[in-house]
Amino acid sequence: MIAPNVPLADELLTSWHARQRRSRRGRTLSKPKAVRDRKGNWRHPDIRPMQAWLKAAADRLDVSAIRLAEQSLARRYPALALDFLVWEHLPRPVDYPEVSAVPRLGISWCSRCLAEGFANDEPAYVRQQWVLAASGFCHRHRWPLEDRCNACGSLNWRFATPARGPLRMICGACWRPLERASVSTLDAEKAARACWDHAITFELQLMGAMAGKTPDQFRFNFTSASQLLDQVRDICSLLTRSPPGHDHWGGRTRAIALNDFACDAITPGMRDYRFLSYDEPNPLATATPLLRRCLLAAAHAIIDSDPGTTTALFGPDAPPAIDTFVAGMNRELLDSYPAATGHWSPTFTRQIEAAKQRRRRRSTLAKFKLRRFAGNTAFAEV
Ligand SMILES: [Zn+2]
Ligand SMILES: [Zn+2]
Repeated sequence: MIAPNVPLADELLTSWHARQRRSRRGRTLSKPKAVRDRKGNWRHPDIRPMQAWLKAAADRLDVSAIRLAEQSLARRYPALALDFLVWEHLPRPVDYPEVSAVPRLGISWCSRCLAEGFANDEPAYVRQQWVLAASGFCHRHRWPLEDRCNACGSLNWRFATPARGPLRMICGACWRPLERASVSTLDAEKAARACWDHAITFELQLMGAMAGKTPDQFRFNFTSASQLLDQVRDICSLLTRSPPGHDHWGGRTRAIALNDFACDAITPGMRDYRFLSYDEPNPLATATPLLRRCLLAAAHAIIDSDPGTTTALFGPDAPPAIDTFVAGMNRELLDSYPAATGHWSPTFTRQIEAAKQRRRRRSTLAKFKLRRFAGNTAFAEV
């Protein structure tokens, strides 16, 4: 039985507040949004809420303010960086022109969670995991997250209180409930399940790192939690960056390294899907769940030296993901990264250097073969 006024264990504070506003007691409450504190920093009610808001909400809704503060994302994930959350509008620094929108989190959902809640006559609510950029799957149902209506494709959703039954999340355009799973995901489920499970193990490591836990040292040798997150951020940025000097109308191109990591299980219903360049320090922060899954799967295979990971995600014939990454990457761009940032783990830096060496060796060998071929042809002509 769900207690009527306290947030649920894994609920976002703004989701709890929205549910309260819909109930009889909360009618006069205004919608919480991010505000700037005295120093000009954005304070989002879900991440690090202002004391004044916490206290007012606690008083009005008869909950302890301490209990509410415990529910904030900053408490749950003490090592969480803002770019490891998904944003509809990114928080901009204080000197950014005032026209910038108030930061708003981008919310995805798991249709299985919503369906289960509805079947149990429980109100729909937004889980904290649905706004984390390090997750593209629901870990409870091992199911891909979605951010658009399966019927009409709209990105808008809202809560709705039906005449009978619990609170639901519905599409803001066609009003269909969001608990219906996508047909292409259902079709792909059987073949893709093992691959999804593999991807989820990495997401769990990242979520652990955001909570301040040291990553599994058998998998990620001598890698601290912050190094793991930094590596993922840098790899995702490199994977989506347009090659230097690339002149393209509108500045975006599909000639990016991420498109060398096609995995049909991760993109159900979209065979050989090719993404556009992003050119952001961390594309995960504004990515759709689909792009997040692809970026995280590629980053997983690149960082994890176990060849089984590449095989599980990209097939038995795929070369080691780190070699594909280095081969598809512009040299100067790749060289600029560890030097500029200096925060990759020594193990990963060494693995990248080894992959670069292999690339050099391959290219020398190819040149040698080409010369020999040219020599043979010249000889034959004599
Ligand atoms: Zn779920
Ligand atoms: Zn719709």
